[in-house]
Amino acid sequence: GNENRELHVFFFPFPANGHIIPSIDLARVFASRGIRTTVVTTPLNEPLISRTIGKANIKIRTIKFPSPEQTGLPEGCENSDSALSPDMIMAFLKATVLLRDPLEHLMEQEKPDCIIADMFFPWATDSAAKFGIPRIVFHGMGFFPTCVSACVRQYKPQDKVSSYFEPFVVPKLPGEITVSKMQLPQTPKDDDVFTKLLDEVNASELNSYGVIANSFYELEPVYADFYRNELGRRAWHLGPVCLCNRDTEEKANRGREAAIDEHECLKWLDSKEPNSVVYVCFGSMTTFPDAQLKEIALGLEASGQPFIWVVKKGSSEKLEWLPEGFEERVLSQGKGLIIRGWAPQVMILDHEAVGGFVTHCGWNSALEGVCAGVPMVTWPMYAEQFYNAKFLTDIVKIGLGVGVQTWIGMMGRDPVKKEPIEKAVKRIMVGEEAEEMRNRAKELAQMAKRAVEEGGSSYNDFNSLIEDLRSRAH
Ligand code: UDP
Repeated sequence: GNENRELHVFFFPFPANGHIIPSIDLARVFASRGIRTTVVTTPLNEPLISRTIGKANIKIRTIKFPSPEQTGLPEGCENSDSALSPDMIMAFLKATVLLRDPLEHLMEQEKPDCIIADMFFPWATDSAAKFGIPRIVFHGMGFFPTCVSACVRQYKPQDKVSSYFEPFVVPKLPGEITVSKMQLPQTPKDDDVFTKLLDEVNASELNSYGVIANSFYELEPVYADFYRNELGRRAWHLGPVCLCNRDTEEKANRGREAAIDEHECLKWLDSKEPNSVVYVCFGSMTTFPDAQLKEIALGLEASGQPFIWVVKKGSSEKLEWLPEGFEERVLSQGKGLIIRGWAPQVMILDHEAVGGFVTHCGWNSALEGVCAGVPMVTWPMYAEQFYNAKFLTDIVKIGLGVGVQTWIGMMGRDPVKKEPIEKAVKRIMVGEEAEEMRNRAKELAQMAKRAVEEGGSSYNDFNSLIEDLRSRAH
């Protein structure tokens, strides 16, 4: 046979930071296992990608992003994190469809054996078919949220309830999971561009060669089995992909350039007791109104725990939303650190001083919390984050809710007050309950490390994926 012929894998991540980062981690897993790996992206996303690639042996090929005349987007908008209004996000999604021709042109030149494309490129399944190669979907999620989504899509339990807030059980799914309409990733409007996109995403996933999950078997065995055996889908679990970042340098260089000097950050953390710091971050996109920022500040102060809080707001703005005297009472006393912009999240979470995480429950963040072995306060915003929050609180039981029940921005959402924030932070940081959650989290973190090591479940699943691809390529 031709077993030794080199496989060439194309990665095509969606241009949003929360998608690019795990895709590059995954590409690094491939490269570290000796697979010839190429990442395709657009010019303005290249710096972020090459930072995250670091020394790994991965090639980057760029294709041009469509022009402002073609898309109606402002000049230089090639990453959805810069397209904030809902209209602009829709324009952005439409613009990415225009990447199809240049991508196919590149495929013709480079003749990859497989393309691992983001879920938000449903057309990539057809592109791959044109060249007779498998398209694999990478959505950066685990099995649990994917299974919830699939069951909701298939059985439509939401159609049987009238109130947006009435909980209903997700049919067929193990574990009696309840959600409400206000927690579904689909908007209630059927004609919505985004709802249509999700339909296409689902169809292309079913037609694809399979899905790579950012998870490990031991984290969610029931749902990994359900996905494969009950839903009958082909999947490989190759995660947690964040564990490919091993030393401080790799962790600090993951994603954008940090808005804080990493040494200053580590020095601050070194000065704190083990498991005493709570890290607060809501992903790469979420911004809050001033009223909410103020409540968070008060809640963190009242918790009495030292904190690192990442605030995504223009760095030129003053911190005038901070409560009066906060600067003097808290910040200048070294009790808290505010990072305004991009934080080196994995580097921070992995520091022994960090003992808890207040998270919006993006799957990447949730899994990074698991790998760091910390209990979490769950504060979901949108997309499948409510599912991820349930996973942390109800399934693996290393999280506590802060009390939000509905999508942000859908029907307006009142700020979460200081008191529930204070209470939730205390509950995950100190006392018996915190101790129990931390022990469970540490156990999962150990399992995660074993999963990606030689002989571990994710390591082995990688081998079977490569075997499949090799036998298909010949
Ligand atoms: N992230 C980071 N620094 C930040 C914000 C986010 O390093 O200041 C990383 C985080 O570690 C994670 C990703 O960006 O890997 C965010 O993905 P997630 O799924 O948690 O949320 P999203 O940003 O997609 O909502």
